[in-house]
Amino acid sequence: MKASLRIVLNILPDMFACRIVDLKYSLIKLRNAIGFPIFLIRNLNKERFTCPLCGYCGPFKDTNPSGRGLRKHAKCPKCDAAERHRLEYLIVNNLLNEIDSSVLKMVHFSPERCLKEFFVRRFGKYDTADLNMRCVDYRRVDLTKLPFADQTYDFVFVSSVLEYISDDEKAISEIRRILKPRGIAILNVPIIAEKTVEYPEPNAWHVRWAAGLDYFDRCNRYFSRVDKVSSDSFPSKYQLFIYENRTQGPAKEYALPLSIRGEKRIEVVAVCHV
Ligand SMILES: [Zn+2]
Repeated sequence: MKASLRIVLNILPDMFACRIVDLKYSLIKLRNAIGFPIFLIRNLNKERFTCPLCGYCGPFKDTNPSGRGLRKHAKCPKCDAAERHRLEYLIVNNLLNEIDSSVLKMVHFSPERCLKEFFVRRFGKYDTADLNMRCVDYRRVDLTKLPFADQTYDFVFVSSVLEYISDDEKAISEIRRILKPRGIAILNVPIIAEKTVEYPEPNAWHVRWAAGLDYFDRCNRYFSRVDKVSSDSFPSKYQLFIYENRTQGPAKEYALPLSIRGEKRIEVVAVCHV
């Protein structure tokens, strides 16, 4: 979200702030719908994929975030779901096929729009929480000090959040504490190294930008079973791999301990069982 919009939202009462956020997403949807035919014409010869969230079939959008390089085949042009959203959707959908989720209670931290509707549809009770977001059920929620009683939820979803938290182990232990027996937590961080690269001090983007495979050891300390589900666990038509170039960008505000040149990389999601 742009800084100017964030400032406006901060001074508005909740009701108006949330309406503006809804309006913003409606405008994004409208923009996508208007630009869709042009996108298809421009990308006629591009590889085709399927979005499991919205059913779209065709080329995906490349993205080029400022300060970074190109990220190929990243987003669905219809619902904006990125690689990790598609992978997470497939993982959760598979899990829910085995259980009656209509009686389950879930909490979604830093809720992603494109997954929200799916969760609302599938869970009996759906709550949202965040430290900074305004339009959530529980505001100013610090993952290392959760305001929920022990064993409150059956399902916890936290994606691309833990890498911003200095004491991520405390956050993982708190997530475990609020889960009921047989509860499940989906804890996803972008893993791009063998071993986690810790920064000497927080940078503008992440506390530890380069999370490594040892991240799963942290989860193992608090859960009885941690399944590692990766991009290659599902058919390639969903395009769940990351083709990200991280060789550009100002080094000061976008430190790059690892140079990634856009080669195919897998995403690995921790499915943690109590
Ligand atoms: Zn889609």
